Amino acid sequence: MTKRRVVVVGAGLGGVTLARVLQVHGVAVEVLEAEPSAAARTQGGMLDIHEESGQVALRAAGLYERFLTKVHTGGQAMRVLDERATVLHEETDDSAGGRPEIDRGDLRALLLGSLAEGTVRWGGKVVGATSLGDGRHAVALADGGTVEADLLIGADGAWSRIRPLLTPAVPAYTGISFVEVDLLDADRAHPTAATLVGGGMFFALGTGRAMLAHRETDGSLHVYVAVPAEVGWLATIDFADPATSRSAVLREFDGWSEDLRDRVRDADGPLVPRLIHALPVDHGWPREPGVTLLGDAVHLMSPFAGEGANLAMHDAAELARALVEHPDDTEAALAAYESDLFPRSRAAAADSAANMALMFGPNAARVMADFFTGARP
Ligand SMILES: Cc1cc2nc3c(=O)[nH]c(=O)nc-3n(C[C@H](O)[C@H](O)[C@H](O)COP(=O)(O)OP(=O)(O)OC[C@H]3O[C@@H](n4cnc5c(N)ncnc54)[C@H](O)[C@@H]3O)c2cc1C
Repeated sequence: MTKRRVVVVGAGLGGVTLARVLQVHGVAVEVLEAEPSAAARTQGGMLDIHEESGQVALRAAGLYERFLTKVHTGGQAMRVLDERATVLHEETDDSAGGRPEIDRGDLRALLLGSLAEGTVRWGGKVVGATSLGDGRHAVALADGGTVEADLLIGADGAWSRIRPLLTPAVPAYTGISFVEVDLLDADRAHPTAATLVGGGMFFALGTGRAMLAHRETDGSLHVYVAVPAEVGWLATIDFADPATSRSAVLREFDGWSEDLRDRVRDADGPLVPRLIHALPVDHGWPREPGVTLLGDAVHLMSPFAGEGANLAMHDAAELARALVEHPDDTEAALAAYESDLFPRSRAAAADSAANMALMFGPNAARVMADFFTGARP
């Protein structure tokens, strides 16, 4: 195999999966990560790892068995309620589902821990990259340094610094604003909310609003309160003031069951605002020598299909496979990878956009419940 310097920008789930699978096949790789350390930011949130994507990647990484030991037992349970807190659909976790749940932090730690010492350069914030010709690139770092790459891979998420080498696309606001809420020690401190959410995933849908929640492995509940709103709405709320921010959010849920509204009223700690952005569903680019993207950098989408992290890992495994199958021809490898990447991304992004329309559309809870029972496609 020709020795090529492979540089990955971003040590999120996609970047570290790529590095791991390449190392399994003896390919040298280095990862530049902006954050100062693996512990710089709590990763938070639960992810269900899909059989056809995330699990495929974990098998390619040789980590599937270890992943199973970290799965959140009971986490595949699911409930769908309407805004009056009437349960329309419920599934228990019989461990037979194809979507085991894991804490995102545990998953990233598993992947990072599997890499050769020194693979990730922490504090390696990239500010841009330029072509040197012949498929080589110079990557500029915020500390003034430069790294030269024979193959450059942007795994640096929504606001990728590598994407402009390939496409002018930038994420656009989807029209949905999230406010994140934590309820700690839920069984003891928030028993009604704990019972309503159940053991895993939870959807409360109605009147063009949504509350999505997960039970986390530490016994807390993490709630995404979702509101269709102007892009400036969240900026009008003073999130440093818990009382003001709670009332502003609660105003959006007038008429909802008080048990559901209590999620916001009884939040532990500050509410956290988040705008939901997406790239165009048909995002792609003509082949450009020596550089490609994976994960959110390619197909940032709303989280309503629960696909983003799974796809990022799947992209990574597929890119590694293509590179291993074409050891002396980087362009053939990238062409093979991208020919599957674009249709795969388009299908998931379209699903995610359709789910978003469904969740904020008429009779959302009933439509969603019918979807899960199979009564509706
Ligand atoms: C609220 C919410 C809920 C979600 N729920 C789910 C879910 O249930 N299931 C699911 O599959 N997906 C979910 N997703 C989507 C998922 O989080 C993303 O799709 C996934 O994290 C993408 O992985 P990635 O590796 O491509 O990018 P990221 O996870 O964004 O990683 C990018 C990495 O690059 C680094 N970086 C960024 N810029 C630079 C730079 N300039 N220089 C160096 N490093 C840089 C970042 O620090 C980061 O470590 C959710 C997303 C949101 C917002």
